[in-house]
Amino acid sequence: MTDDTLRVYDLDREELASYLANLGEPSYRAHQVWEWLYVHLAKSFEQMTNLPESLRGRLAEETTLQLVEVVDTLRSADGRTRKDLLRLRDGETIEAVLMRYERRRTACLSTQVGCAMGCPFCATGQMGFRRNLSSGEIVAQAVHFARVLQHAGDSLTNVVLMGMGEPLANYEASLAAIRRLSDPAGFRLGQRHITLSTVGLVPEIHRLAGEGLQITLAVSLHAATDDLRNQIVPINRRYPLDPLIDACAAYVEQTSRRISFEWALIKGVNDGPEQAHALANRIQSLLAHVNLILLNPSPDYQREGSNRAHVRAFAAVLDQLGVPYTIRVRRGTAIQAGCGQLRQRSERGCPGAGPEG
Ligand code: SAH
Ligand code: SF4
Repeated sequence: MTDDTLRVYDLDREELASYLANLGEPSYRAHQVWEWLYVHLAKSFEQMTNLPESLRGRLAEETTLQLVEVVDTLRSADGRTRKDLLRLRDGETIEAVLMRYERRRTACLSTQVGCAMGCPFCATGQMGFRRNLSSGEIVAQAVHFARVLQHAGDSLTNVVLMGMGEPLANYEASLAAIRRLSDPAGFRLGQRHITLSTVGLVPEIHRLAGEGLQITLAVSLHAATDDLRNQIVPINRRYPLDPLIDACAAYVEQTSRRISFEWALIKGVNDGPEQAHALANRIQSLLAHVNLILLNPSPDYQREGSNRAHVRAFAAVLDQLGVPYTIRVRRGTAIQAGCGQLRQRSERGCPGAGPEG
């Protein structure tokens, strides 16, 4: 399917300015349109009432604001979490989740349709890779939830790139989306309120460290010995733990930001005390925090989340060795908040974030 329509959310400010300048518009137009897009969250050009009508008509003809369309929504019983299946312009579908806990309003965004990394426990990995999202398709998910919240007199406070896909395998678009969402003249999300979760692509972690961003990096570790990590996070064969932890240390060094390690506890696989010790050994000297989550069931992986006693015993080792951690309650499980699962439901469809991302 060819689709030549200009997608406004794909443009950064300079690109928008030069597009409008080419139409013969004065230079202040770009600022006006930018505010309509990212401050007022306009859904149509019609709403942009300080633009001349002729320009509104032309923009409506040549460009589109509509990059994602809701085709299905699941809500948690307590009403705090909703997960949307979103259709893109080419018919592909992705998932995005909105979580409301205490004062946080967190959107979990996808960065790819599917994922090539092949983690066997992950519904998105089970689907394989289909394509990268554009920066605008990532941004549009956040704008979509910001509009939902705006409707209720509320606003988005946090974004996590923890939905479908591997953000560092779609590096340019993910970074452009982060910059656009944190633009102080636009969407205004503080970079400290943005988390990027990666499976551990070592060269890209080094590259990210040099971007001058203040975002939180989360690394999906799940195992602290190469033997085990090779099995459950196959990219470990290319980027084993030593270079990965070195890259994390470089990230902390260059950004002075604490790093998060994600650990999905899988019964009988990575929830024993020896893995807890190995984890502590590897990261003890790092400015780091561990997020313990329970494995979310997924169709093609016949394993369960750990039971309480094992979670407690694992956490006790971390306590004993002075490794900071949080046990995340996976409140989204009931609505298949594991990303990829809604899509699998409608096809044959991430665990995304815990409540606090
Ligand atoms: N590709 C990136 C971001 C998307 S996955 C990454 O892997 O980090 C977001 C998080 O969900 C990762 O920590 C991932 O390991 C975790 N995850 C995937 N499937 C899961 C499952 N079935 N149960 C619990 N966590 C899962
Ligand atoms: Fe991809 Fe992340 Fe799922 Fe692994 S866990 S398959 S990297 S989305």
